Amino acid sequence: MYACGPTVYDYGHIGNFRTFLQIDVLRRFLKLSGIPIRHVMNITDVDDKIIRNAGKAGLPIGEYTAKYVSAFFEDMEALRIERPEQMARATEHIPAMVALVQRLAEAGAAYRAEDGSWYFRLSAFPEYGKLSKKDLSGISDGARVDVDEYEKDSARDFALWKAAKPGETTWESPIGRGRPGWHIECSTMAMEYLGESFDLHAGGEDLMFPHHENEIAQSETATHKPFARHWMHVRFLLVDGRKMAKSEGNFFTLRDLLLKGYRASAIRLALISVPYRHQLNFTFDGLTEATRAIERLRTFRDRLTGNALAAGENPALQSAANDAQEQFMAALGDDLNTADARAAIFELVRAANTAMDQGQLFSGDRDAILAVLKEFDAVFDVLEDRDDEPTRRAIAWAQSSGREAAIAPELLVRESLSDEAIESLIAERTQAKKQRNFAHADQIRNELAEKGVILEDSKEGVRWKRK
Ligand code: AMP
Ligand code: ZN
Repeated sequence: MYACGPTVYDYGHIGNFRTFLQIDVLRRFLKLSGIPIRHVMNITDVDDKIIRNAGKAGLPIGEYTAKYVSAFFEDMEALRIERPEQMARATEHIPAMVALVQRLAEAGAAYRAEDGSWYFRLSAFPEYGKLSKKDLSGISDGARVDVDEYEKDSARDFALWKAAKPGETTWESPIGRGRPGWHIECSTMAMEYLGESFDLHAGGEDLMFPHHENEIAQSETATHKPFARHWMHVRFLLVDGRKMAKSEGNFFTLRDLLLKGYRASAIRLALISVPYRHQLNFTFDGLTEATRAIERLRTFRDRLTGNALAAGENPALQSAANDAQEQFMAALGDDLNTADARAAIFELVRAANTAMDQGQLFSGDRDAILAVLKEFDAVFDVLEDRDDEPTRRAIAWAQSSGREAAIAPELLVRESLSDEAIESLIAERTQAKKQRNFAHADQIRNELAEKGVILEDSKEGVRWKRK
């Protein structure tokens, strides 16, 4: 499968990451179902916006984009989005793009304009519009557009190759000096790694038209074969009913939210819990809800594994675990219904918590429930607490880039203690208790609590977590 990746002209916002997260859900579900996958994602590292911004910064585009490419991978990792098998950078595939333009020209579907740019002739592909099912009957033959992203419903001959303009990054080629258009990048890289026909092509809903229509037109005109057999378009993340977008100024980056004290796992859960087919309205309440949900899961798992359970089995609970597992897979199998999949697991957690309260959960039930949690986590990946590192990295990034003001004060307090410092305070407290110096022990507990560290005494010793 091929997924349109980021355009690396700036830090990605969480709308962009919602799309990549939903594709990650698809990828993980396919793997869980035993389907081998090869997932290609491109990085658009040359386009109108990159050239404009790099020019303003007085940098070659490669130097300008390097920072955003590494930020993209860091953010992907923080959100636990698995790396595609193949990442493909546009600037590393220029000769193949040129070859595709030449192939289209030979087929009579590409022509050179007076300024040396090359355009795709829309009239060469009568099926144009079949993906977005747009009525394009009003297209005027020969009208052209040379920007990568253009207005809805204005289908035009679009640029395949843009002639060199003064000061722009360009490549010498048999079709003249210039640079590729955005659409030809994806057609070329998809076919390079996956062949002329492949199973699935994904991206955000805004890409359906014109980007994906243009990819289909270019590819199918050149090969006379179906390009992608299936398409997945992730609906938008909205803010107050409007698309989250750089241009609207209504966006948050992952880093913005981490610095406000939200955890990477909660952001992941909030962005995937509403299925990809539905738009999702971003709210801070939504993040708080996700934080609590994860807390409930982790507490339940700790309770299940940390406590000695009486020997025996509860058949009703085991069948609840089976049902939850089946419902989970069935929901995801039903067009990736993450909401129902998640609900099935939380229902099991509720039932098992109740059983535990009533002494009706036995040691023989533990493995069946843990197996369900494991399967859930193969897709959702929020159970293990790995939240500290992304937050620390975001803080270090803010501190090293003059963004200290964005760091929530409570977060600085919360992160001021390292894990080692916490462990050593806990050891000191245990020692104090042994010596019956309860005042000192309480003092340490309170000091930790002020820094957001919560202690739980159990038979197995002291467990701690950050609030
Ligand atoms: P870009 O970096 O602008 O090329 O976008 C990367 C991906 O994010 C594309 O698949 C877009 O369709 C997607 N995208 C952009 N804005 C949003 C949004 N508000 N919600 C969901 N996906 C988005
Ligand atoms: Zn693309």
